[in-house]
Amino acid sequence: MDRINNGQNSMELAINKEKNREISIPGCDITELLIENNHVRLSQFSRWIFCRGMLFKSHVKWWGDRGLRAQPHEGLDLCFYMNQGSQCRLIDNAILIPACYSGLVVNIARDFMGSSIFFLTEISGGIFCWAYGHLNPNSDIVTGKMINKGDIVGRLAEKWRPGAPPPHLHLSIGIPFADISSGLDWNVFGDERSFYLMDPLLFMGSDYSIISDGFLWI
Ligand SMILES: [Zn+2]
Repeated sequence: MDRINNGQNSMELAINKEKNREISIPGCDITELLIENNHVRLSQFSRWIFCRGMLFKSHVKWWGDRGLRAQPHEGLDLCFYMNQGSQCRLIDNAILIPACYSGLVVNIARDFMGSSIFFLTEISGGIFCWAYGHLNPNSDIVTGKMINKGDIVGRLAEKWRPGAPPPHLHLSIGIPFADISSGLDWNVFGDERSFYLMDPLLFMGSDYSIISDGFLWI
């Protein structure tokens, strides 16, 4: 059992790893950073709204036929939010996406909606990794680039095709406990033998509500 402090709430997680020492991962300010960098469009933001299929480790899709995912969800999908008038809104491809931690871009790969960016962050003698999915990265975001928290890395991938989910930001956070020198991608993130994924919601101080899948849109 290792103790992990997420910067907001101390929590203990059973981690089957041998190499990593105790590591303290700061809280994830993605909500605050999105509002700060999109203050006109998100000025009325009140809280996130999640369908169950958007949550960490969910086995179901929240789009299309709402069938089973190919593998449990590796992170959290940010898409719907409640504004201060209690209306449901979507973030869209006009929203600028800021980096939620400083770190190194280690890979950019295509995903089924756009591109995924994989980051590595060194902290307190340890490292953790995080990834954004379904983005249209800025042209200056390339493998090997160091980015600072708050830097804009891109916008959401823009297509909303029939049967596909609307534009949304996928966020994953995890700790490697095996050699990742060969690179980071979704195969590594999804491999429980070498990577310990964590629920991004545990690192976010944001308000949210969880609703039944399919309640908001068809
Ligand atoms: Zn996702």
